[in-house]
Amino acid sequence: MLDNLRQDFINRTTQVVVVNKELEVIDSDNNLFDLKKNSNITDFHPFFYALSTVFEENLQKETFFCVQMEVLSRHYFIDIKTYLQEDDESLVLILNDLTDHYKTVHQIKQVRNESIINFNISQELNQQLEIQRSFKNKFLANVSHEIRTPLNSIVGFISVLENTEITREQLDVLHIIKDSSKNLVTILDDLMDISKIEAGKLDIKNRRFDFREFVEKLAKTYEIRTDDKRLSFDFELSSKIPRFLVGDHLRINQVIVNLLENALKYTHQGGIKFRVTTSSLNARRIPVTFEVTDTGIGIPKEKLDSIFDSFTQLEKRGLFGGSGLGLSIVKQLTDLLESDLEVKSAEGEGSTFSFTVNMGVSHNQKKENKEKKVKRKKKDFKSAKRPRVLLGEDVEVNQLLMLRLFSDYGAYSIDIAKNGERVLEYLDRFPYDLVILDLTMPIMDGLDAAVQIRNSSNKKISKLPIIALTARTSQEEQDAAKEAGMNAYLTKPVDPDLLFTTIERLLSRYKRKDKVLELSEEEE
Ligand code: ADP
Repeated sequence: MLDNLRQDFINRTTQVVVVNKELEVIDSDNNLFDLKKNSNITDFHPFFYALSTVFEENLQKETFFCVQMEVLSRHYFIDIKTYLQEDDESLVLILNDLTDHYKTVHQIKQVRNESIINFNISQELNQQLEIQRSFKNKFLANVSHEIRTPLNSIVGFISVLENTEITREQLDVLHIIKDSSKNLVTILDDLMDISKIEAGKLDIKNRRFDFREFVEKLAKTYEIRTDDKRLSFDFELSSKIPRFLVGDHLRINQVIVNLLENALKYTHQGGIKFRVTTSSLNARRIPVTFEVTDTGIGIPKEKLDSIFDSFTQLEKRGLFGGSGLGLSIVKQLTDLLESDLEVKSAEGEGSTFSFTVNMGVSHNQKKENKEKKVKRKKKDFKSAKRPRVLLGEDVEVNQLLMLRLFSDYGAYSIDIAKNGERVLEYLDRFPYDLVILDLTMPIMDGLDAAVQIRNSSNKKISKLPIIALTARTSQEEQDAAKEAGMNAYLTKPVDPDLLFTTIERLLSRYKRKDKVLELSEEEE
């Protein structure tokens, strides 16, 4: 019985053939293929030409795996074993039909190969996307730097001009130029924000802050702005919301300002409503809902989805100004704040944008004394000996601007060195109280100069407060400045008020603590 089964299996899967040196069939059991005696086996299939080599090289035993042949429109995969006979004149071939086996193996291999190929393709695509993204971000950072540098002198000199004697008409023109320059700065900030968000470099920083004051100030600003446009302004701040909350007020501010600016821009009659409410009162965390409603031109239903894409401006609306970046940033910021931005709008009737942020309730609801800003007047400084500031700055217009700002302010004397190396020379020769460094300078840049200052063996030099004043706004640059031991990071266009309050603050802390300061969060 077993013999029968074995024989049956062999008959279905194996064929034995004997060929001579001329590759003529001497014998064959024809289990698989019909091979005529004395016919040349290469006529049956050209693969068998390979057997000549077996004879020529006298290969006693050989195996050819997975030989593919099509016979009578059927596809076979066979293993062929060859045994050279003792007289070397004939060859025994064992043809083993493994079609089913190879087909399954092939399928598995094929699936595996395809998944490997797909994985490689997706990796390749991801790499390409990453390259494109980092190229775009670097490009934006560089363009932003290049534009910020001339803008610095434009904005700076506008504020210098404002403080000179000019006519009312000239002042009005100056204000228009000032507003346009500020818009340019906002667009640059927006571009940088978008690339920071995309690169995952924009973090949410939660801090305790006076929430009610923050919202009330915002409302005050827009009450004036709407009034200028002869629009009404309704403001509602729920009394249930505590004064001190914990959250990222800078980012929340950015979102609200964008929404209020749009409401203002796209509303020509009626008014704007700004509501800040909460739905529940929990001791530790509360959901705060911000809602901006306008009676403006509205957004067509079919366009509602696209308004969040970068550079999207609805047709014929370019005339209202803007870059089409605002809502894209708002959307990404609300995502970061773990909030959903909701829009309801009807064309010709108006729009409502709202979002809810979960905020912590500060356990301390008291106003601390140090939060009250002590504003020192210029004349306080004038009576005392003026602190000496050394500025490292290579661009001539920026040097002129700073000279002018410092001389108008009057509280400090200023010397200017045109690169990092000069800064170090000046520090060796004269006593200074504070150093301001531009980061991008020839010969020795601001970062290297800061490191050298911190490494100085003279403690009067190594402990000097250092402010970075730069057109570079990326997080990497800020981190590098901190790493180099700089105490504050201010970006161009220079804001004179911020510059002088920072100098004042660092100088008073420097005198008090007489030690190297931490880069404080306010200037980050
Ligand atoms: P823009 O700088 O053009 O205002 P945004 O990204 O802020 O760019 O807005 C995208 C588009 O959405 C705008 O161009 C405008 O067409 C539309 N939009 C945004 N807010 C409003 C609104 N409050 N009322 C009507 N249309 C709006």
